[in-house]
Amino acid sequence: MLRFAPSPTGDMHIGNLRAALLNFIVAKQLQRPLMVRIEDTDTARNIPHKDQEILELLSTMGISWDQLVYQSANVATHIEYAQKLLDQGLAFYCHCTLEFLEEQKQRALQEKRPFRYHDAWAFLQQQSNPHPVVRLRGSTQALDFTDQIKGVIHFEPHELDSFVILRADKTPTYNFACACDDFTYKISYIIRGEDHVSNTPKQILIQKALAQVLGVAYHQITYAHLPLILNHETGKKMSKRDAASSVSWLLQQGFLPQSVANYLISLGYSPPKDVFDLEESCAWFNLAKLSGANARFDLAYLRHLNHKHLSKLTLEELQTLLKLDHPSKAKLAQLFLEDSSTLQELQGKLKAMFSPKDIRQDYEGENFYDHCYHLYRALQTLNLGQLEDFTHFKQAAMQASQLKGKDFFKPLRILFTGQAHGLELSLLYPFVRAFASEILVLKDVHGS
Ligand code: GLU
Repeated sequence: MLRFAPSPTGDMHIGNLRAALLNFIVAKQLQRPLMVRIEDTDTARNIPHKDQEILELLSTMGISWDQLVYQSANVATHIEYAQKLLDQGLAFYCHCTLEFLEEQKQRALQEKRPFRYHDAWAFLQQQSNPHPVVRLRGSTQALDFTDQIKGVIHFEPHELDSFVILRADKTPTYNFACACDDFTYKISYIIRGEDHVSNTPKQILIQKALAQVLGVAYHQITYAHLPLILNHETGKKMSKRDAASSVSWLLQQGFLPQSVANYLISLGYSPPKDVFDLEESCAWFNLAKLSGANARFDLAYLRHLNHKHLSKLTLEELQTLLKLDHPSKAKLAQLFLEDSSTLQELQGKLKAMFSPKDIRQDYEGENFYDHCYHLYRALQTLNLGQLEDFTHFKQAAMQASQLKGKDFFKPLRILFTGQAHGLELSLLYPFVRAFASEILVLKDVHGS
């Protein structure tokens, strides 16, 4: 079984979504089930309803799962396992105070050596600290594992010192809860972010110890740690401060789920085609071919992909996504696609066109307002129903307004679209004619 294990402690990050997508693809390819495990044991950092938001986002992205587990439901098992490890001497109580450990850290810093925990410290403060933590006994042997992306990763014994598995309040630490659950659910393959590489040896040690105390064979999990996604400009890890790192933000900006999936699957990969959907990628994606180098987040490429995916939508799909009350408006949206790349941009153009026009907002010269208003009044006298094509309309409108050239076309564009630049007016005319009562309307002409 594979698992995606999000923490409900913040907005879903694109790095998490990438892990979810690749877990989904690999689970499909290996025909193994996929579990979603909400890692909600850090109660202080949990945000209410984030779990639901995460599950909804996964569904929106087309990711389905076979089993859903809340880690908090397993805490009794974590504590039970910790007790077994204590009973068999693979774990021990440690009474060190935070102050003592801080002192040791400072000393290590001064002596320019890495801080390591020594098992001999465990009982030094037994008198002053009656609330011990539980530590798993570290390893005296080196440990390595083969990462599917990074190759062999090696840890020396001095890097594998004893570490905390139960806090003083008897709550499990992240590494312990995670490794216990991976053990319980027989997780065979873990795909997650590179930031977890340093947790992996701890989790392997926990799993080995659990196999020993529970008397079962230990099976090494296959690991793949995904490289970081960096901010395009700064080259630093995309953090919460980068708006584009939030999946919800990208969707709100009008990127389609299939474009975001296409983009994240393409990161650090050479796909056989540029534009594809999640389902298709299951046929050819090969995790072993993913680049081990960090990838830069390229919004321009995501926009390009989104434009391609938007162009593939049917009129019905566009109408639904843009919540349009008429199929013809979806046709218009298709036209606007010529110079738009997101749903939000399309919505902006449609809204500008179907809202009363604020002719005082445009500052194209002194007479602009007068020309607009004059043209508007002239258009009121025309019967658009009889002016079938743009050429006829244009002639009639010029005649009625006595305006020509720039003085005619610039105001006309504003009256048609609410914007100073855009598509050819002849392309837009059929829509203006069909929806004249919605489009040829001025905003607050009184009081001018
Ligand atoms: N809850 C951890 C996270 O969101 C899970 C890491 C893992 O996949 O093991 O980063």
